[in-house]
Formats: sequence, C-alpha cells, structure tokens
Amino acid sequence: MKAKNLVKLSFYSRSVNEGFARGALAAFLAQADPTVPELADLKTAVSEAVTNCIVHAYPGGVGLVHMSIALYEGGKVKITIADKGVGIADVKKAMEPMFTTGDPGERAGLGFAVMQSFTDKVKVTSTPGKGTRVVLTKTLAGKK
Ligand code: ATP
Ligand code: MG
Repeated sequence: MKAKNLVKLSFYSRSVNEGFARGALAAFLAQADPTVPELADLKTAVSEAVTNCIVHAYPGGVGLVHMSIALYEGGKVKITIADKGVGIADVKKAMEPMFTTGDPGERAGLGFAVMQSFTDKVKVTSTPGKGTRVVLTKTLAGKK
C-alpha cells in the first residue's frame, strides 16, 4: 500500500535528539488527529527505539539515526527507526524482557517490551556490523 503522506529525518545519535524525535513525531502526526493516549503511546515507543540507537548502536561514538513516519488510509501509522551501527547478533534474545547488554544499573532491558505494548506490531531486523532497523506500526482508532 502506498503511503498517504511520508516524512524522513536523519539526525545524530545524541541524547538531546530523543526529545527532537518525539516532537517531530507529534508535529507530523497532528494531521492524523490522534487521541492524546494514542500520541503518548507512539511517542513512548519512538523514544525507546531512538534511545536504543543513542545508547547501543554506536558504542563510544556518534552516528546517524534515520527515522521515517508514514501515514496510510485507515489511520495506519508506520514508523521506521534505523541505524548503521553495531547491529544485534540475536534479535529474538535481545527482545526478551529484561535482556540487556547495557549497564544493569542503568538499563532495565525493557525497551523492546515497551515498544511492543505501546504499538500494534514491532518488527526488528539487524545485521551485526551493519545496523538495525525497527518498524513500529499502529492503527489510530476512529480515523477511517
Ligand atoms: P532499557 O531500554 O530498558 O533501558 P535496553 O536498551 O538494554 O534497556 P532494550 O531496549 O529492550 O533494553 O534492548 C535490548 C538489547 O538489544 C540492548 O541491551 C542491546 O544489546 C540491543 N539493542 C537494542 N537496540 C539496539 C541498536 N539499535 N543497536 C544495537 N543493539 C541494540
Ligand atoms: Mg532500550
């Protein structure tokens, strides 16, 4: 299906850009008139995916995060967040709740679980050494 509208953004994996990603999402989605909880859910999911690029994708450095937001007929929203960082060796394991390769004092290993509970679908593809792509989809209710 062809998107009704689409935006693509690329930004550095700096923590200040987590807020930028949330704000950009809200600005673009305004045209779809989401409910307050729908928007809050999507912002939370995007925030987790972008934070993962910031924290995990480019250890000890900074790289690009590519985000695209597509709107389809019927209220479907598809958000893609991709990086060209270290990638994930075992995606299934990484998505298990409480699994983290980060500092256990700082990271709960719940980012993917949060993305799953706040969207309809989360698809993760990753190649070690090449990068990671997370696709979040959610259909906004009542926007048929
Ligand atoms: P939390 O999100 O609770 O702070 P976390 O980031 O470790 O902790 P998840 O977001 O569920 O937990 O991610 C699980 C693991 O998947 C991470 O610890 C990391 O090893 C890996 N991972 C996730 N996203 C990326 C990414 N973009 N690049 C490389 N590794 C990633
Ligand atoms: Mg995380």
